[in-house]
Amino acid sequence: MENATQNWEQMTYPFFNLTLNYSLHALEPHINAKTMCAHYDRLLATYINNLNQILETRLDLQNMTLIELIDYAETNRDINLRRQAGGVYNHFFFFTELRPATGQIIIGITPQATQKITATFGGWKTFKEQFANAALSVFGSGYAWLVKNNKGELRITTTANQNVPQECTPILCIDVWEHAYYLQHLNERQAYIDAFWHVVDWVKFSERI
Ligand code: MN
Repeated sequence: MENATQNWEQMTYPFFNLTLNYSLHALEPHINAKTMCAHYDRLLATYINNLNQILETRLDLQNMTLIELIDYAETNRDINLRRQAGGVYNHFFFFTELRPATGQIIIGITPQATQKITATFGGWKTFKEQFANAALSVFGSGYAWLVKNNKGELRITTTANQNVPQECTPILCIDVWEHAYYLQHLNERQAYIDAFWHVVDWVKFSERI
């Protein structure tokens, strides 16, 4: 399934959960196994099942990728399809941008990535602060994102619920629904954001930026 995991953006019906490059306890102590079981194993599986159920009788939608389904749902105001496809897309994005902590928080970052972060935000410290502030500012459920707009400029943005960022290329996201951290950090979103930085796959980040 490694290919499917790498190419999930091309996946079409029937959708299935990805085989991650790391085990469910591999992100500890930053994201614990209990959280991963609830979040990746059960909650994401529910989104996938719900999406497959919608598509089962919709032959016209069965060869669409997640982004194509989301666009279709936006255009046709199909709220349920929009939510389920967005939920799968956002979680696939989130879980495949993570990797076990190495102890060296910035391992894998290329000089080019650092250059871009510095040019836009002044440096890693400011970028992380601004990204964390965006993540903290999400009222209720949603995500904070680092994205590249159509001009190639880096921007930090947020989305509510299972919306995906529009007209840009996502580079990094953090899921700040309470289900992403409540089992470990209770309502302490800041503690979860601090932990998150330890398990970002900076190699992937550098390729995307
Ligand atoms: Mn989630």
